[in-house]
Amino acid sequence: MEFGQFNVNALMEITQRPDLVFVRGQGSWLEDHAGKRYLDFIQGWAVNCLGHCPPEIVQAVQKQSQLLLNPSPAFYNLPSIELATRLTGASCFDRVFFANSGAEANEGAIKLARKWGQVHKQGAFKIVTFDHSFHGRTLATMSASGKPGWSTIFAPQVDGFPKADLNDLSSVEALIDDQTVAIMLEPVQGEGGVIPATTEFMQALRKLADERKLLLIVDEVQTGMGRTGTMFAYEQAGVRPDIMTLGKGIGGGAPLAAMLAREEICVFKHGDQGGTYNGNPLMTAIGAAVFDALAAPGFLEGVRERGEHLSRGLLALAAKWGMPGERGNGLLRALIMDRDDGPAIVDRARALAPHGLLLNAPRGNLLRFMPALNVTTGEIDAMLEQLDGIITGMRK
Ligand code: PMP
Repeated sequence: MEFGQFNVNALMEITQRPDLVFVRGQGSWLEDHAGKRYLDFIQGWAVNCLGHCPPEIVQAVQKQSQLLLNPSPAFYNLPSIELATRLTGASCFDRVFFANSGAEANEGAIKLARKWGQVHKQGAFKIVTFDHSFHGRTLATMSASGKPGWSTIFAPQVDGFPKADLNDLSSVEALIDDQTVAIMLEPVQGEGGVIPATTEFMQALRKLADERKLLLIVDEVQTGMGRTGTMFAYEQAGVRPDIMTLGKGIGGGAPLAAMLAREEICVFKHGDQGGTYNGNPLMTAIGAAVFDALAAPGFLEGVRERGEHLSRGLLALAAKWGMPGERGNGLLRALIMDRDDGPAIVDRARALAPHGLLLNAPRGNLLRFMPALNVTTGEIDAMLEQLDGIITGMRK
């Protein structure tokens, strides 16, 4: 496909939709190269927590880009200190390492756990992860992920990531031996199909980790930063993890991620972890602006209310069409369908006129919803109405 003198095939990255190229976005709306608008219930896979191009981010970019872009990763800068202070103040962690993607934050968590194992547990290195989990697309994080088919695609894998079943403590216990250093999980498996870890399971993992001297690592790349109605999802289970990773929402659309740890875990020495762009002031200034918007009085309460609104709407839809139901937490939710209609619904939603609708189907029988956290109830109702219309068209 040609765009004037520009050619889509100049990109190596593989997309299933090479005909869709976006040029601008505002709030819950995106506009493509042909001027068609789309109501966006994907938001860059939960990235744009304040919607597209929110004023908070535009102002932070304007201000910081005139001050300082990147002094050097070898020196500290003010915005990263400010954001780290906010994050540690809002969580049970003492220190923050900033990364550029969720996968890189998880690489940091894996490396920190392994180093801790060398220092404190006779070289233990195995990290128990879960079937259907998703931790990123670097080699180690692909190996940590329990995505079907990924164990062979870039073989050999990075060693040391045995997989247990989510919400099944005995399957975790069965994998633990002297070489195990940590357990790593998503509080809600996002890519795996919006499957929450239960509170009982999270608490049992904490107890098991304490008994067996293991680290508990939560990957909150998708659930963190208000997505589930609290700043971090682990708070809802009443547990204190040892390490947490953040991505997506923390930058509100900008490439920023983080790995947080309790003081006694922080065994990295200078040079163990880092890179040219880690903690650069432009991204961390954006992160601070996003954090302040999420931490504003009433914001997270509003996320919970809108999450309930979306949940009720999806339940009504499921009841109307005889579907199994819905699940999720806050504004990370899924409609569970009785047939594998997901991909067809996604295509029809996109093709709607005059406005399209962007939806995601991580599994054939499941639609996942990750709107902006400041989505309006009116936008939720508009999406539900469009979705109902599509299902009506497919089932009549
Ligand atoms: N962990 C989880 C839970 C995720 O959902 C994702 C992205 N879908 C990642 C890690 C990887 O993040 P990134 O794409 O920024 O590397």
